[in-house]
Amino acid sequence: MNTEIIEKIDTTIIDLPLKRIHKFAATTINSKSFVIVQIYTKNGVVGIGEATTPGGPWWAGEAVETIKVMIDSYLAPALVGENALQINTLLQKMDCVAANNPFAKAALEIALLDIKGQVLRVPIYDLFGGLSRESMALKWPLAQGDAKADIEEAEQLMSSNIAQEFKVKMGYMSPEDDVNYIAELCRGLNGKATLLGDLNATWSELTTQKYLPDLAAHGMDMIEQPVAAWNRQALARIRDFSPIPILADESICTPQDVNEIGNLHAADMLSLKIFKHGGLTRTHQIIQIAAAFGISCYAGTFLESSIGTAAFMHLVASQNNIDGGNELVGPIWLADDIVQQPVQYKDNHIWAKQEPGLGVSLDQDKLSHYQRV
Ligand SMILES: [Mg+2]
Repeated sequence: MNTEIIEKIDTTIIDLPLKRIHKFAATTINSKSFVIVQIYTKNGVVGIGEATTPGGPWWAGEAVETIKVMIDSYLAPALVGENALQINTLLQKMDCVAANNPFAKAALEIALLDIKGQVLRVPIYDLFGGLSRESMALKWPLAQGDAKADIEEAEQLMSSNIAQEFKVKMGYMSPEDDVNYIAELCRGLNGKATLLGDLNATWSELTTQKYLPDLAAHGMDMIEQPVAAWNRQALARIRDFSPIPILADESICTPQDVNEIGNLHAADMLSLKIFKHGGLTRTHQIIQIAAAFGISCYAGTFLESSIGTAAFMHLVASQNNIDGGNELVGPIWLADDIVQQPVQYKDNHIWAKQEPGLGVSLDQDKLSHYQRV
């Protein structure tokens, strides 16, 4: 049996600048914070991982500050001295010392997979069944909250062959203003691109019933998570009358959530995020359960750096059931990255890394430069 005994685990909080502000339903951000994990083995292998949230704890309750404390105080001590290659055993060990905290566990699991890929000399996608696709077309999140600026951004992205499909954040203004905003965006895009609207769980069932037909009539072609995460029954009723497909995000975190959504027929597609599920292994489990229900998956994002993006792209590259698109645009949207050999974008697609492990390595100078003090 191969062994890679874990010697120590370092965590560092960094703050990276953004190229522009980004509006979510609950907050607006102009920089992005990450916990960078480095796992060292006694044989001298170093695996890297990261965790990031959409601007603080509003989405999942975890924030970079709590993630660092959970890793340093509880999860890392449980892993030091263990064999880094026994990933399923280590996932169980982490669950024994801390309930929940999927973001913190994902950061460590990504670093473990990076070690395993390096030791076995295979890209991480080979640990999940091998390469099914080398690249996938991007869906770009428009999020400036100003239709004119968003249309200009979309046109620039289309003409420079970065993206031809778009998503827009909603829910931070009144439903009437949201409808007007979508109408203006759809007029501006003029049928040249698709538009997915993400409400981040901010509307009631009644509000959705009232306004969703208008959004569809203006040209929005899919709606993401209109109602609260827990309200899967409402999501099912909305899907019954909706003229456009429903993408579930906040409602899908655990394998049990997929069972419930599947049994209720509450979504046409699931938005995956490697942090909300607790890493690639558990995201892979979600994908398999979704496939058993015949539900397609979509690769969502918390705007990761090239570390998290490369990790997720290994799953996208290996799983046929992630066939609904992806929004893995973090490295483009950040004003700087912290790796050598960042993730590659070309011809409106993101491309999988082909080197062993994650395929990216930390730029230590940038890590020091952006480290929070
Ligand atoms: Mg979402």
